[in-house]
Amino acid sequence: MKKNILIRNAAAIMTGLSGEKARSPVSDIRIENGVITEMGSGLRAQPDEQVLDASRCVIYPGWVNTHHHLFQSLLKGVPSGINLTLSPWLQAVPFSYRRSFDEKRLRIAIRIGLVELLRSGCTTVADHHYLFQPGQDFDAAAILFEEAQALGMRFMLLRGGATVTRKLEDHEKLQQATETLDQMLASVQATAKHFHQTGPMAMSKVAMAPTSVHVSLPTQELKEVARAARSMGLRLHSHMSESVAYIEHCREKFGCLPIEYLAQNEWLGSDVWLAHLVHLSPAEIKMLGETRTGIAHCPQSNARLADGIAPAPALAKMGSPVTIGVDGAASNEAADMISELHFAWMLHRAQAGALSRARPEGHGEEGGDATTVEQIIHWASQSGAQMLGFDGVGHLASGMAADLAVYALDDPRYFGLHDSALGPVVSGGRPHIKWLVCGGRIILENDIPNGLDLERLGMQAQAEVQALLAMQS
Ligand SMILES: [Zn+2]
Repeated sequence: MKKNILIRNAAAIMTGLSGEKARSPVSDIRIENGVITEMGSGLRAQPDEQVLDASRCVIYPGWVNTHHHLFQSLLKGVPSGINLTLSPWLQAVPFSYRRSFDEKRLRIAIRIGLVELLRSGCTTVADHHYLFQPGQDFDAAAILFEEAQALGMRFMLLRGGATVTRKLEDHEKLQQATETLDQMLASVQATAKHFHQTGPMAMSKVAMAPTSVHVSLPTQELKEVARAARSMGLRLHSHMSESVAYIEHCREKFGCLPIEYLAQNEWLGSDVWLAHLVHLSPAEIKMLGETRTGIAHCPQSNARLADGIAPAPALAKMGSPVTIGVDGAASNEAADMISELHFAWMLHRAQAGALSRARPEGHGEEGGDATTVEQIIHWASQSGAQMLGFDGVGHLASGMAADLAVYALDDPRYFGLHDSALGPVVSGGRPHIKWLVCGGRIILENDIPNGLDLERLGMQAQAEVQALLAMQS
């Protein structure tokens, strides 16, 4: 197999950059030793290059998913949680099932989630895994990294967990043993030593990510955890302000709003990104923007759980990095990047339109540019990679890692498009990916990840669902 690749004749290339550089004027990309070394038009093939013909295809950067819970990939559409809001859903689905995951079941769930992402053009995944407890007889962190590596993807473990039991878990059936702070920090340090790579072409990383920091740690431990992470060179992540329950809790326990609580405890900054951030006051949006604290925007999960709509465009305007996460498949049964981006692109327009008012009281119709395709692509590529600290990844330019997807617009869904560059995002649906490349390696061809038997995976999933159903009855 030839190591270097020349991709030629693309109908369009979106770079992942924002503004005028969002679209590349050229059609060819040369990849050597995993890195893009040249972008141009009419490039000539070298003898050592594999040539990929991208005629009638568009090329995007590989997506960067900044928030997921892969173990939930076997918990889609659980009937007891399908019509619930966040807090009762947490009790009915993730907390009820999390103790049923042994090593085998966890591996199958992770694989399903990763394959779903791959088939939507995703090459970098940050998974918020929080099933850690003392005495576990398998190493969940190692399993996650192994599964991602086997599929050729970049992977970041957002190492979750808790040192206290939260009120929602205050039931014998839902409880899970907690770690002490020392156990948690020692485990994060050991995992980071093994898996946290620095350098622009890193394939694996670790972040400190207590599950929901306002309820997972007692107040005195927040600063300690933040300082420990920073001393290890790790970023910070957590769930925050996903529903109004976060506001109720922080008001009652701490006498302030959630983001004010984080500010008091050294949990804001350019090395912090927070999942959801749906319910924010104008002052909190300003604090997040001024401190360059990022968001993992998960619009489908937020809609599914009736949380609301995160003010992602407003956060972006104030200076917060906006990134995209699909969240776990127990609250987003379409946990793939294309459906997430299609939804994000439309959602903020719908919201702006819903808020528009007729003249003379209002401004008439508005909101048609509330989010642009270029902006959505940027959020899900360059912005995400920068937030996670994958410095050489996330946009297409000479010197950057060769992480990219070649989409064939050969489905009737795309017939009639005037601007093919927009196709994968504006038309939505599952795309046909001719080649998905990560670090210069082709890891998926014609929608099939390397070496993977999709039919077998489907049968394994079915068997695990049957076993979970039998355990619950
Ligand atoms: Zn989540």
